Amino acid sequence: MTNAAKPWGPATWALYMGDHHRQVGDPVTPGPALSASFLTAPNAVGFSANDLGAAAPHFYTRWSNPTVELLEARLAALDAGEAAVTFASGMAAVAALFSDRLHAGDHLVLSDVCYAGVAELAHDELTRNDIAVTTVDSSRPEAIAAALRPNTRLVHIETPANPILRLADIAAIAPLVHAAGAELSVDATIATPLGLRPLELGADYVVHSLTKYICGHGDTLGGAVIGRAEAIARLRRGSLIHLGGCLAPFSAWLILRGLETLAPRMRLHEANARAVEALLANHPKVKAVYWPGSPRHPQHELAQRTMRCFSGLLSFTVNGGGPALAEQFAERMRVVSYAVSLGKTKSLLVYIPTEDILRSSFRLTGDAAASYRAWAGDGVFRLSVGIEDSADIIADLETALG
Ligand SMILES: *Cc1c(COP(=O)(O)O)cnc(C)c1O
Repeated sequence: MTNAAKPWGPATWALYMGDHHRQVGDPVTPGPALSASFLTAPNAVGFSANDLGAAAPHFYTRWSNPTVELLEARLAALDAGEAAVTFASGMAAVAALFSDRLHAGDHLVLSDVCYAGVAELAHDELTRNDIAVTTVDSSRPEAIAAALRPNTRLVHIETPANPILRLADIAAIAPLVHAAGAELSVDATIATPLGLRPLELGADYVVHSLTKYICGHGDTLGGAVIGRAEAIARLRRGSLIHLGGCLAPFSAWLILRGLETLAPRMRLHEANARAVEALLANHPKVKAVYWPGSPRHPQHELAQRTMRCFSGLLSFTVNGGGPALAEQFAERMRVVSYAVSLGKTKSLLVYIPTEDILRSSFRLTGDAAASYRAWAGDGVFRLSVGIEDSADIIADLETALG
């Protein structure tokens, strides 16, 4: 599961990494290992996860599975990490990491804008377990520095942040976090490992919702954490084997299949997003568009410096009438689907009303709420640009915008 550092490009890695025991007669495309348990020699594996050695053979699928292991090897390689561990969903991955790193009396610093489920997990579940949570604007490293306390164990940020595509400067944040004796985890779901490699910029953990671009087809859920071998082994033991939210081998196989086309898909997502961003930026009903690849994005310089691909997710605000326009989009669109999620082959659009998400998920008030409103207005349309012909996406959006 370690990164063998072969001199290959990421598109090749996505196809072959971890496939090193190949012999004549082996399938070029292995199927999923759909078995709950594996033949075991007596005494080869301890019965407790606490006795799990690094070289233990496959034993029970919640512990390890050949298909899942192959996916983990590929994910570790793509993110230039030592090891990866996968979970049943992106939320399961974040929850596992939080439960591993944070205990009663500890403190979490969390980006004030992030995946809504993560914000709710922190505000509703962590605080119930006596873990303090401080939310900060993670686009300002000095705000993170000011939030750090002696009991801060983890700083969790997202870049680009869902749903407003705000960026965080990992290389500036990591030294501040480490100086305070804490660790930095970065959710890079939107960027994918082809767009951003947080570990190379100083992060301790990368989190991905595999449900999104990495699977890419919207047909299963999955999550992963990538980091140092020792930390991932601890996470596997405590938060995977004991908490139990493992990725099913069939899902791992679907995600491996998606991963094979990640590189060409990301090029298409990016090219289509560039075309759609230009359309929206020049449309009279549109107030602002946020896509890190555009010079119009307030942090485009940071995006250029750190991202290898700008991905296909963008958000935009309109000059009033957001809820009515959302209805109009849902009624008129024939190519883009009005639906949640992101990062799949098909384009998806959803409207996120500002007051709703501030109240239900982010729980922001005062200056923090004002800062979100300044960016998001009354609400943002989050558009995951798919890989359809760009002219068809654009015609669909033009008709729907009216
Ligand atoms: C979707 C998403 C998650 C949660 O992943 P699931 O697979 O839906 O559980 C976490 N972070 C980000 C940035 C996401 O977009």
